[in-house]
Amino acid sequence: MTQHSTTTESSDPTGRYDVIVVGGGAAGLSAALLLGRSRLRTLVVDAGEPRNAPSAHMQGYLTRDGMSPAEFLALGREEIARYGVELVRDRAVDVARGADFAVELAGGATVRSRRLIVTTGLRDELPPVPGVAERYGRDVLHCPFCHGWEVRDERFGVLATSPLSVHQALMVSGWSDDVTLFLHTVAERELSDDDLRRLAAAGVKVVPGEVAGLRVEDDRLTGVRLADGTVHERTVLFVAPKALPQTGLMERLGAELQETPFGAYPVVDPTGRTSVPGVWTAGNAMGFAEQVVHAASGGYRAATAIVGDLIMSDLDAAVGE
Ligand SMILES: Cc1cc2nc3c(=O)[nH]c(=O)nc-3n(C[C@H](O)[C@H](O)[C@H](O)COP(=O)(O)OP(=O)(O)OC[C@H]3O[C@@H](n4cnc5c(N)ncnc54)[C@H](O)[C@@H]3O)c2cc1C
Repeated sequence: MTQHSTTTESSDPTGRYDVIVVGGGAAGLSAALLLGRSRLRTLVVDAGEPRNAPSAHMQGYLTRDGMSPAEFLALGREEIARYGVELVRDRAVDVARGADFAVELAGGATVRSRRLIVTTGLRDELPPVPGVAERYGRDVLHCPFCHGWEVRDERFGVLATSPLSVHQALMVSGWSDDVTLFLHTVAERELSDDDLRRLAAAGVKVVPGEVAGLRVEDDRLTGVRLADGTVHERTVLFVAPKALPQTGLMERLGAELQETPFGAYPVVDPTGRTSVPGVWTAGNAMGFAEQVVHAASGGYRAATAIVGDLIMSDLDAAVGE
């Protein structure tokens, strides 16, 4: 294992690392913290675009409930720096596996490591309704666990973009008795009898017709406008972005992926080990439903597995000499 001196941000990462962590969100930083504390020479490569950046607050992370996502990550970066982990603001654009992993960065450098953790998260592709992107993370929301408490008892709309949106409407009815499901691109006939029974039991109003836009007054959502011009008074709109897992590097490495209704994710063991020897993953790069606390936990778990893997492989090599 390589010993290190204490460093922080690196503008010129060089040499051979024990581990490169691609992605410096909750998953990557948590992995890096454990790797640094395990005396492994570690580099985090981070493009700096965490998924929850549109939100001013991060909820549901014990002891950090309500903290801004940016502050949370800044604290994480401070913590990894204490253990000499290097961090470079760059994007990994390619990776090759030989004796080491060679990770090519957009800035031109190629960095090498013995093990790799890919924590590149996912991107949310928002439905192309005018106004939705501008208000995302404020009063256009996707996740009741992230935002439900803050908007409890408000007038909820749910924008249906597939029959799965029924599930979202039923879920958010746990936070408000006033929920309208706008069928938008979904035909009424696509709803099953079970859907209709549950929607009725939850008191969810179902409104057919395409949503054409939002009514915003004084920088607040006040209504949802249909293509026929009618406006329904709503103060919150839940949407279901299409999840685009950032698995490009995994694909380059030939990792086995499995399709889910929310994108294709690497096949992993309980530690996040992928089908590619030496490559682990965690957070939203591994699964759609990973919240910040899961991502941090997954990164930590992957890192502990890597520490054991490196110690054992070094010992095996020593025995073999
Ligand atoms: C609007 C919104 C609000 C949310 N609110 C909450 C909440 O309140 N509570 C909660 O628990 N969860 C919340 N979430 C979910 C939360 O965003 C995720 O759980 C969390 O971001 C997952 O962490 P991660 O480390 O896997 O990915 P991310 O946080 O997305 O971090 C991935 C990092 O990898 C970088 N990256 C990607 N590709 C590359 C590459 N090729 N090279 C280098 N770097 C790369 C990205 O730029 C990014 O910095 C919210 C999500 C959204 C969309």
